[in-house]
Amino acid sequence: MAKGGEMLTQDTQQDGQACQEVVQEYGSATEHTATIIDGKAIARQVQQEIAVKVSKMKESVGKAPGLAVILVGTRKDSETYVQIKKKACEEVGFDFFGVKLPDNTTQDEILKFVKKFNDNPAVHGTQVQLPLPKHISEEAILGAVTIEKDVDGLHPMNVGRLAMQGRNPMFMSFSAKGCIELLLRTGVVIQGKHAVVIGRSNIVGTPAALLLQQRNATVTVVHSKTPNPAEVTRNADIVIAAVGVPELVRGSWLKPGAVVLDVGINPVEDLSKKKGYRLVGDVCYKEASLVASKITPVPGGVGPMTIAMLLSNTLESANRAYGLVDT
Ligand code: NAP
Repeated sequence: MAKGGEMLTQDTQQDGQACQEVVQEYGSATEHTATIIDGKAIARQVQQEIAVKVSKMKESVGKAPGLAVILVGTRKDSETYVQIKKKACEEVGFDFFGVKLPDNTTQDEILKFVKKFNDNPAVHGTQVQLPLPKHISEEAILGAVTIEKDVDGLHPMNVGRLAMQGRNPMFMSFSAKGCIELLLRTGVVIQGKHAVVIGRSNIVGTPAALLLQQRNATVTVVHSKTPNPAEVTRNADIVIAAVGVPELVRGSWLKPGAVVLDVGINPVEDLSKKKGYRLVGDVCYKEASLVASKITPVPGGVGPMTIAMLLSNTLESANRAYGLVDT
């Protein structure tokens, strides 16, 4: 049991103090630190496995999986994400189809590209980089991606199937799938455990909760209207935080020995950094690592897994298209 964790869970009066202040207070008094779940290394391993499968596909059917990404506008972060996807595709041997459209592109023009990729048999996954400019209906664009190429797993049919017993979605949200993969690959038992998912977005929280339930965890979802989030979270063996609030989850929110997956990616001002900011998660890492048994860092935890799972979804789609069985 985490020695520091016991101290932190007894102290529920930390709200006025910033994450690091509490660590300074308690940090030196503890010997326990959680095992770091190295998302980078696990993602690399997944990508290597995918590359081997792509080679086999090329040998057997002479084709490679294809991923299409439509980028609208000039947001720097979105451009970076698309570059990362392109590079990842090249590394594993996928074909990459990129389209870059100006900010003032009409919805109809974007829909034309979606249709073009829907009809292209060399494309097995179509992604529209979010967020879209304000004049575009996200729902209309995402709804136009055919369910067979919905590698984001955001099509209502895929989400609906995920929620229903005995119905398999064609794809599931890759951020949520990445969380489950991290648990499985680090030997965390899910069945019979109490999991708390903080956040209920379509993209992470809700699919993560459904996936945990599918694997026989007892799941509680905490959201912005939950009156006692710390108390609820303290019951959890597994915590997935997908909130978008920097360092919301304090050490005092955790049961000693809990496994903590931090999906959050939040820029916070840091003038000591060249860019003027640093990235932190939704969990106060320094406190939580004194209490948890395993924890993902930010960056380098859940983030790298999302790209690996996007590739995995695209490979699955190509396998289906070519009648191949995944091994
Ligand atoms: P989102 O759509 O804004 O959803 C946030 C969720 O958190 C909502 O369900 C909201 O509750 C809940 N919430 C907000 N404040 C809360 C509070 N104080 N206490 C409890 N719950 C609260 O965000 P998202 O898209 O799921 O993303 C969440 C975080 O994950 C962000 O930091 C994002 O950047 C990051 N992210 C990372 C990856 C990755 O690859 N690692 C992928 C996607 C997202 P309500 O429903 O009641 O409003």
